[in-house]
Amino acid sequence: MTTKSAAKKKNGFRKFWKLGIEEYNTQNFDIGPDGELIVREGNYQYNIFDIIKKYGTSTEIVFPTVIENRVRDLIETFNAYIKVLGYKGKFFYHYAMKANQTKEFVLPAVAEGANLDVASANELFLVKRMIEQDKFNAKIRVICNGPKTEKYISLIEELKTKGLVVIPIIEDYKELERMDKFKGEVGIRVNLDIKVQAHWDKKFNRYGFTEEELLKIGKVRNLSTLHYHISKQIESVQGFVKPLKRALALYAKMKEKNPQLDTLDIGGGAGVPFEKKKHFYTGRSLVQQIVKTAKKECDKLQIRHPNLIVEWGSYVAAPAQVTIYKILTQKDVGNKGNVKWYVVDGSFMNDLIDTWAIHQKWHVIPINHMNTKKLDKVWLAGSSCDSDDKYTAGGDSILLPRLDELDELYIALLDTGAYQDSLASHHCLLSSPAKLIAQNGEIKVARKREAPEEVGKLFGW
Ligand SMILES: *Cc1c(COP(=O)(O)O)cnc(C)c1O
Repeated sequence: MTTKSAAKKKNGFRKFWKLGIEEYNTQNFDIGPDGELIVREGNYQYNIFDIIKKYGTSTEIVFPTVIENRVRDLIETFNAYIKVLGYKGKFFYHYAMKANQTKEFVLPAVAEGANLDVASANELFLVKRMIEQDKFNAKIRVICNGPKTEKYISLIEELKTKGLVVIPIIEDYKELERMDKFKGEVGIRVNLDIKVQAHWDKKFNRYGFTEEELLKIGKVRNLSTLHYHISKQIESVQGFVKPLKRALALYAKMKEKNPQLDTLDIGGGAGVPFEKKKHFYTGRSLVQQIVKTAKKECDKLQIRHPNLIVEWGSYVAAPAQVTIYKILTQKDVGNKGNVKWYVVDGSFMNDLIDTWAIHQKWHVIPINHMNTKKLDKVWLAGSSCDSDDKYTAGGDSILLPRLDELDELYIALLDTGAYQDSLASHHCLLSSPAKLIAQNGEIKVARKREAPEEVGKLFGW
């Protein structure tokens, strides 16, 4: 075969598995000469199959560079549009720690200039740890969401005295009363009367005040920030533009009674292209529309452009991790044409709980035999005894290399970096995957695959 046709063939497979495409977060992924998954980090590269042969499965691999790049890009893109469009407010990125609190996620984000958004006293405690270890500049800004227990509030006050900008977000009347005694700036959360196309579109939202309540409250002591959070995985740019317009109208009214109000925090929700659909918005187009809308609306309302905060968690964290399993065996699904079960050596209910909890879809690819044309339609089954422990791509099916003629097959689920770790569990006492960190061309073990003794310990044995 000539080199040219070999390259063409490789391109075909790369396209088939949707690798090397920025819109799908696979720009660093490629296929090696032997049909193995390659992940690039600048001029370093990792042969994922070789890594897995060494460390076994089930395994998660984290790429901190992905986090660094995404945070840097996000901040640069916002600042670029702010400049180009003549927007007068500043931009602050706050990494929503709840998306992934693992050290290897949080520190690279902070290193690239991320501020933080914490959801609980325990997450704020991690911030205290970082400060104590001199891990970062005490000028970092921290938004505090979630119910403010006394413990949480005293930690907020403690960190404030250390010089951090810590902004508690008031979510109910009790907190409003309590925060009247707080010495620093505060934010307040509105539950906007609006629906967008998104994963979480619940009729009843228990977070924050209604718009009506906020207008009735009027003046809030030391109020700097108006905050809202609509949903996760917002499906379209309109899902950001609509709430932003509504929030700015409210912001303008609130500013009359609260002249020191100067910041709008639009929360999380930037989506991850899990489903590899065409026409998923890019981060760039989203940022452009946000800044453009903010400018246009403020000019119409004749108010000063507020500083803008986004708390995008999944957007930064999801693409930074892949989860890898070995296919243990296959079975016929029965009553489903020629679809086969592929049983993996891990568990969707334990390791990727959103598969089960919110019917999350994933981009699934093989990590060896990527250049075979013999494929089967499959459903994936986890190793627990639970009939819900499966991934069927929403009842559809996934194409993967035909197992019959292969010595062994490993698969990767992409974009698994957000939320799955802190939600992980131990159904059937299966071990959690090992966690590897791939950085600067080297592999570090951040967490070994759990031994029986360790799992038993969690249950008092
Ligand atoms: C969960 C959450 C976020 C992060 O949401 P993503 O969808 O991961 O971007 C941000 N802000 C608040 C208040 C949240 O509850």
